[in-house]
Amino acid sequence: MARILKGAEVSAAITEKARAQAEALQRLGITPTLAIVRMGDNDGDLAYERGAMKRCAAAGVAVRLFVLPEQAEQQELLNTIERINHDVGIHACLIFRPLPPHIDESRVRAALRPEKDVDGITAGSLAGLMLPQGQGFPPCTPRACIEILDHFGIELAGKRVTLIGRSLVVGRPLALMLIARDATLTICHSRTVDLPARCREADIVIAATGQAEMLGADCFTHSQTVIDVGISYNSQGQMVGDVDRAAAEQIVAALTPVPGGVGTVTSSVLAAQVIEAACRMHNRNM
Ligand code: NDP
Repeated sequence: MARILKGAEVSAAITEKARAQAEALQRLGITPTLAIVRMGDNDGDLAYERGAMKRCAAAGVAVRLFVLPEQAEQQELLNTIERINHDVGIHACLIFRPLPPHIDESRVRAALRPEKDVDGITAGSLAGLMLPQGQGFPPCTPRACIEILDHFGIELAGKRVTLIGRSLVVGRPLALMLIARDATLTICHSRTVDLPARCREADIVIAATGQAEMLGADCFTHSQTVIDVGISYNSQGQMVGDVDRAAAEQIVAALTPVPGGVGTVTSSVLAAQVIEAACRMHNRNM
């Protein structure tokens, strides 16, 4: 049976370290503060917001909520971001996406100062994945995947990694992070031919498709590690990942559960990045 790589364990380690850094900042009179910008009250955003607030509180990060009506105009959102950019008491900003259809997301990305972009959405943050002088932060979910592998001592250098998904939120940034860690990478997507074969030849499979339980027994071999980023709901309404867990856990060496895997670590990474943003802003190495 596969070892289950529980996110809670990783999250606790990240939160403990973050909390010590936050306390050191507090002693200097600095409270690491995150602005959360939300348009409307969609259930997914509210659930993520509750999780993020809980994790931030545990790490010693203050949260300020900026809630706009779903129909608010583009300019109102841009004005809110401008206020956050200029508020020296706010170190970091998370803007819930997808934004309503009348909002031009590219203008929102361009408006936020990369130094406060702890969710890795600005061009400055994305450039930082390629260039040492980037100003922002990696998106939280790709970093959560790397944190999980590191926490459980799963080596990346020289390993064959098959990554399924090439979105700007998960797949593309994660690909750059894996290359930076010396993995040998195969990137798959909806046009990939013979996906099971590409998975079987890997030491580590990372799935981020959002297709419920699409990776079955034919995708796996012994001694593999599987990181399941996907979040979907099956026909019984249960949250599931991209991986058919019952099939995979009979075969592979280790895998992350859904729920309780990558998603659990993502909000801890967010809190840690807020503290990092505060340290950078005040020129502190914690
Ligand atoms: P997107 O829909 O933007 O991207 C999905 C990717 O998967 C695309 O590259 C797509 O290929 C690929 N894909 C879709 N179907 C297949 C298939 N049948 N075979 C191979 N590749 C396929 O999703 P996101 O990247 O935003 O999110 C991916 C998943 O991760 C979702 O379930 C989301 O809920 C979850 N997620 C989880 C987070 C967490 O913290 N745990 C945070 C963020 C997301 P193509 O490019 O060709 O269309």
